[in-house]
Amino acid sequence: MAQTDLRTNIPDFATGSLAGDGPAPASREAISTGSLPGPERVKQALGDAYRRYRDLDEGKVADYIPSLARVDPSLFGLSVCSVEGLTASVGDVTHEFSIQSISKVFVFALVCQELGHLAVSRRVGVNNTGLPFNSVMAIELADGQPRNPLVNAGAITTTSLVPGSTPDAKWAFIKDGLSRFAGRPLDIDEEVYASEAATNQRNMAIARLLQSYGRLDTDPIETTDVYTKQCSLLLSTEDLAVMAATLADGGVNPVTHQKVVDPSVCRDTLAVMAASGLYEFSGDWLFEVGMPGKSGVSGGIITVAPGKGGLATFSPPLDPAGNSVRGQRAARYVAHAIGLDLFASKPIDA
Ligand code: GLN
Repeated sequence: MAQTDLRTNIPDFATGSLAGDGPAPASREAISTGSLPGPERVKQALGDAYRRYRDLDEGKVADYIPSLARVDPSLFGLSVCSVEGLTASVGDVTHEFSIQSISKVFVFALVCQELGHLAVSRRVGVNNTGLPFNSVMAIELADGQPRNPLVNAGAITTTSLVPGSTPDAKWAFIKDGLSRFAGRPLDIDEEVYASEAATNQRNMAIARLLQSYGRLDTDPIETTDVYTKQCSLLLSTEDLAVMAATLADGGVNPVTHQKVVDPSVCRDTLAVMAASGLYEFSGDWLFEVGMPGKSGVSGGIITVAPGKGGLATFSPPLDPAGNSVRGQRAARYVAHAIGLDLFASKPIDA
């Protein structure tokens, strides 16, 4: 039954019976345990995955953003960062590309830090749409609820909730926050930004539709522009591995040792990634890889092993949902080779 969130005055369409109960009670014991194997084994697993999938020739580079269509499809890089800040990399790991949808994860975390668990789950939602990331029908089917922060409707809503009374102030907050996750100042790829800004009529339509449902308190076109900027932030696979490792490390960047968000915010963010990080193929991903992940249309994927570290992959050719083909295969290989799958256990007396 629809209720109204008194703080936001927005109808609450979250239907799950757990949704209104607030966060689970905190427990010091309730953390993922174990650690990564030694650096030699991690390096070996990355090298094996790289050689195994380097010549895989499946998938198509995104072309709905014109500048992404010009990328070299053979680029391939894998990078791990542990919660101790140790890194291992193979392939084109210093090549820079636009973060695209992976930004949604980190902007969600920053907003969750500001507004809290309950407000974001009510306002944005945390359930998978089962539909493409830029679906308009998903919004209609949910009476205007964006459903989750990792599809475009939910990401634009999340961006609208970023602190700041002007688009510039919101953008400054996002740029600074994502830079703290990466541990270095990030900047925009002007060409990708200009290219997407000239062709993002669909995202502007999504924002207008959200506004028509009373779901957006900010200007839809300005908010879409801030969202487009956040998607254009330029970084490398190595940067993404540090960002993923920050989510694995309870919100502390393991390289700079700077606290970016609270441990409970990391946990909430990883839960959302597990449900929807690879869009309508999130179930396949979880079944095969067993960890929260997030993909972007430029070809990046982050995979997070809570309490252990983060894996980032980059390879531009995508599957039909917009997830890197080689990245998914490599992540699955590495996850199993170094024992990262969250769902795996052994009988206690085996
Ligand atoms: N900027 C892209 C868009 O809005 C991001 C999509 C993605 O990476 N899946 O379409």
